[in-house]
Amino acid sequence: MEGTTADTDVIVVGAGPTGLMLAGELRLGGARVVVIEKLAAPTGQSRGLGFTARAMETFDERGLLPRFGQGDTLATSPMGHFGGAQFDFTVLEDAHFGARGIPQGDTEAVLEDWAGELGADIRRGWEFVSLTDGFQDGDSVEITVRTPQGEQRTLRAAHLVGCDGGSSRVRRAAGIDFPGTDATQGMYLADITGVQLTPRFLGERLNGGMVMAAPLSEGVWRIIVCPDGRPAHDRERTVTFQEVAGAWHDITGEDISHGGASWVSSFTNATRQAAHYRRGRVFLAGDAAHIHLPAGGQGLSTGVQDAANLGWKLAAVIRGDADDTLLDTYHAERHPVGARLLMNTRAQGIVFLGGPESDPLRELMAELVQYDDVKRHLAGIVSHLDIRYDLTGDDTGDDTGTAHPLVGRRMPPRTLVGAHGETTTARLLHTGHGVLLDLADDAGIRRAAAGRPDRVDVATVHAKPTDGPDALAGATAVLVRPDGYVAWAGTSPQGLEEALQRWFGPAR
Ligand SMILES: Cc1cc2nc3c(=O)[nH]c(=O)nc-3n(C[C@H](O)[C@H](O)[C@H](O)COP(=O)(O)OP(=O)(O)OC[C@H]3O[C@@H](n4cnc5c(N)ncnc54)[C@H](O)[C@@H]3O)c2cc1C
Repeated sequence: MEGTTADTDVIVVGAGPTGLMLAGELRLGGARVVVIEKLAAPTGQSRGLGFTARAMETFDERGLLPRFGQGDTLATSPMGHFGGAQFDFTVLEDAHFGARGIPQGDTEAVLEDWAGELGADIRRGWEFVSLTDGFQDGDSVEITVRTPQGEQRTLRAAHLVGCDGGSSRVRRAAGIDFPGTDATQGMYLADITGVQLTPRFLGERLNGGMVMAAPLSEGVWRIIVCPDGRPAHDRERTVTFQEVAGAWHDITGEDISHGGASWVSSFTNATRQAAHYRRGRVFLAGDAAHIHLPAGGQGLSTGVQDAANLGWKLAAVIRGDADDTLLDTYHAERHPVGARLLMNTRAQGIVFLGGPESDPLRELMAELVQYDDVKRHLAGIVSHLDIRYDLTGDDTGDDTGTAHPLVGRRMPPRTLVGAHGETTTARLLHTGHGVLLDLADDAGIRRAAAGRPDRVDVATVHAKPTDGPDALAGATAVLVRPDGYVAWAGTSPQGLEEALQRWFGPAR
């Protein structure tokens, strides 16, 4: 950025959950951020109604859970499903299904408040228009925006992140391909009033399609209707409540046409993923990077986790603590996660939304989910608790090597006991710094991290005995990145300095 006058360090396009989470993360890491959002005010509509277990942990790692208004414990349910085959997710260690009944609008409001308090400059009514060439090899990125007054002006920053949703203009402007499969099936969503329904929280397959119904607020029900074989509708066409009521009647036999709707919308099973999450100084996150069938409430959750992965890395590069190659780990880590998201939602679509030809598959799934290993595997996928980043630093894709089993996985939530009483792994991450857990009161371990007090907090603690002797897989020291993933774990300082250098830069 030398020699250029930047308006800010990072421009984030889009104040959806992904952009707002990223803005907070960037501020926590000390970077300046401008968020531009074309809508003058939030819509008040909520596509999502909750988030996955890993997204919930991510919010916990920033101290955000109490802001959802329900204390430290959100409404969760142990019951979940994969493609409609329902089972109890408590087979997972530390299991909890994600948070339920939290409208996406509430999540966005929590994140907007948080990012704003941290100093993010959120500009509503500002629209991203275009990107000036040179973002691939220049020392800054310049964009054209339309201001609320309708004027066009330029903004310049070190980096640009497109969090502008599935039809991302940033993605197109950066020339990033979005390969995948077109929509083959259309589905409806409506928030209806004036009717009383039977809850079908996880969705129910009936003759003719899948329906879901859940109470949203006093007198308002969210319904989703997925009629078998309905072709994908034209995205420009406005869906009417009568059309949704007709589809509901065809499948359930229930007449809701006397009611009304505060919101009617539609969606499809189009499935696509950006070929690259980074091109030069431009990055993509959230729906801008991946779209898919909303199965299991995974979209917002994945966007929030993309942001948690990218934010601290960008901030470290901006502060000068890390070099640019750290930013390549964003695509390396998150693209495979996105690909797995697309795989699992497509698989769920075939099982749950297929017509009678999928009946044998549904029968087979119902049999398979009787087995604990199968439950554990499927719950791990849709809760996002099974994510393991390949942190070996080579391109072999072999992450098994000699690394400790915790490396690349999210730090398991644990209660920790130290000189100042009890804490938790999540609480230690509230600062957005890395954390070195010194679990055996080892001066050698503490010395190793001493040169980075501004980036890595050292906590001399031990796991609560009630969590079991192997609560941390035998490790006596664990290095946790700001996004809650284990960068290194061991029983001696061997390899620790290398990991500290790689993720947090040189000591001062
Ligand atoms: C029926 C349905 C149910 C769902 N349920 C869940 C659920 O329970 N849990 C879950 O995790 N996910 C769920 N999802 C998915 C979730 O809604 C999305 O994944 C999530 O909204 C993605 O967030 P985002 O911030 O990446 O993008 P978006 O929410 O799309 O936000 C993008 C923002 O960018 C702005 N923008 C766009 N273009 C520009 C521009 N040129 N300039 C400036 N601003 C711009 C937009 O106005 C918007 O505010 C569901 C989706 C559907 C369809």
